[in-house]
Amino acid sequence: MDDFHIHSTYSDGLDSIENLIQKTKNFTMFSITDHNNIEANKKIREANFITGVELSNYFLDNVYHILGYNFDVNNKELNNKDLFNIYDKYVKSYCQNIKYYYISIRDIIESIKNANGYLILPHPFISCKNIETKTIVEKFLSVGGDGIEITPDFLDKSMEIINCYDTFYSVGSDYHSDIFNRNNTLGIDTKYFDNDERYLRNVIRRN
Ligand SMILES: [Zn+2]
Ligand SMILES: [Zn+2]
Repeated sequence: MDDFHIHSTYSDGLDSIENLIQKTKNFTMFSITDHNNIEANKKIREANFITGVELSNYFLDNVYHILGYNFDVNNKELNNKDLFNIYDKYVKSYCQNIKYYYISIRDIIESIKNANGYLILPHPFISCKNIETKTIVEKFLSVGGDGIEITPDFLDKSMEIINCYDTFYSVGSDYHSDIFNRNNTLGIDTKYFDNDERYLRNVIRRN
């Protein structure tokens, strides 16, 4: 079991990081990906944890989210950039109309790469409004993105894209809480991915 897409109370999740550490203690690997906030990464020391963040950005005339992973949270340049802590300024609570601050995709990619991280396009079949998923994926890869996220509802469609572009991939539930849940259960069985070298956990372990 892994989960690379979890929200805590540092953004619009309802679980504290202490709760999440308990709930993921039997996972092989997990990450907390709060919206434009990296505070959880500074506090968690569990051996099965890798750093993560979900950044809002604007490209192809639409708003997208981008996931960053396994970056050095103390990277100087990353911390000097205004990528984080913007969330608090723009979002009051999860139930309000969420207004994000958008960062350019090039800024995001450059910052996460400079901090030795990976970039994944989350929920590619949900965020793609009126543009074809393949167009967005191609664009994302062409500007330096590493791969896409597999969500449990779209396993076959995701695998098609991954095979077509031979990209890396992560698995993520986009869990926000047990109560306020959008059918997102924490944790994903990884038996189909465990031996695939394109799977993020394996990419991280060999580098
Ligand atoms: Zn998202
Ligand atoms: Zn999310």
